[in-house]
Amino acid sequence: MGRRKKIVEQCERLMDHPDQIRNIAIAAHVDHGKTTLTDNLLAGAGMISEDTAGEQLAMDTEEDEQERGITIDAANVSMTHEYGGDDHLINLIDTPGHVDFGGDVTRAMRAVDGALVVVDAVEGAMPQTETVVRQALREGVKPTLFINKVDRLISELQEGPEEMQERLLKVIQDVNELIRGMTKDKDIDWTVSVEDGTVAFGSALYKWGVSMPSMQETGMDFGDIIQLERDRKRQELHERTPLSDVVLDMVVKHFPNPVDAQPRRIPAVWRGDPESDIAEEMAMVDPDGEVVLMVTDISMDPHAGEIATGRVFSGTLEKGQELYVSGTAGKNRLQSVGLFMGGEREEVDRVPAGNIAAVTGLADAIAGSTVSSVEMTPFESIEHISEPVITKS
Ligand code: GDP
Repeated sequence: MGRRKKIVEQCERLMDHPDQIRNIAIAAHVDHGKTTLTDNLLAGAGMISEDTAGEQLAMDTEEDEQERGITIDAANVSMTHEYGGDDHLINLIDTPGHVDFGGDVTRAMRAVDGALVVVDAVEGAMPQTETVVRQALREGVKPTLFINKVDRLISELQEGPEEMQERLLKVIQDVNELIRGMTKDKDIDWTVSVEDGTVAFGSALYKWGVSMPSMQETGMDFGDIIQLERDRKRQELHERTPLSDVVLDMVVKHFPNPVDAQPRRIPAVWRGDPESDIAEEMAMVDPDGEVVLMVTDISMDPHAGEIATGRVFSGTLEKGQELYVSGTAGKNRLQSVGLFMGGEREEVDRVPAGNIAAVTGLADAIAGSTVSSVEMTPFESIEHISEPVITKS
């Protein structure tokens, strides 16, 4: 079976198991390594060739895909990852790294339940790091931290273990200060820590990574890693402690699935009647409930035309459904329903609650629209934050 076909089959199978889904975003200050990391995760999950990972817009080398001339579009990608004996479907939404795109970052956050915050170990937390953490927490999205470019501390800056530790701890402290200052719900402690396994370190460029759980699994400690990186044995490092496994394990273990996330998130972003059937259906991620889709992005596809991407909070999307679009008078008819698999949109018969869908036919929808099978209170409008705000913990 071709790789593509396998991916499609796996994704279709997993979309009916919300407990095995993680909807996530990678958020970072520009140049901190989001693109390189995304390529790495895709390669590690077998979605693109290992050799091309790290080059932006990596081309898939699978024969039939090469013929079809498909380029991986890192904007929305899905991958599968095995953890604890179960396959998981990880839907990754890209967020622009530049401060001017603050609005887009917030929109992406509405669709996901977890944000992997990437910080460059040399530069440390930057203004856009603050903005993305703020946006994530405002949307009720749980953060974890990946500290990237650790190879530079070792090979370029020639730091010793103590100096490195100090620097990495400073990054963690800075990020935690942001988290503490911004978490809305005071009962939730979303600060990250090495001990909990909510922080990982590594090099997206050289494809190695490390976390407390990974060290326990591989038996490699920081000293081993420093030595191998100093000796430029990066391939060995990658093979012994591959970044994609370390990060995807963290994603599956520490980010909530839609069933856990939606009961908490819906009240934060929707002001409708909490006692209504639709509130209950959204909280339950009910595939048999009324359809509720929150559109987070509209993009143009040269073949399919306008594609609306968004999170299905309740019900099941099917081709031909007539759906209300908030803020407009009439209904739109769904012309096609799809999922992102690998980097491509694949049409499917149906997309149930808990997934990120890509549909056509919603001519009246804009980013931010609530699309539903019954008239309902729309989701809160998405606040655009483009200025970092100074906060104190
Ligand atoms: P983005 O703007 O966050 O998407 O950042 P990119 O992934 O495009 O990376 C920005 C630059 O940093 C590129 O030149 C990458 O090759 C480089 N880079 C990314 N990750 C690492 C890393 O782990 N180590 C080193 N030394 N360079 C990296």
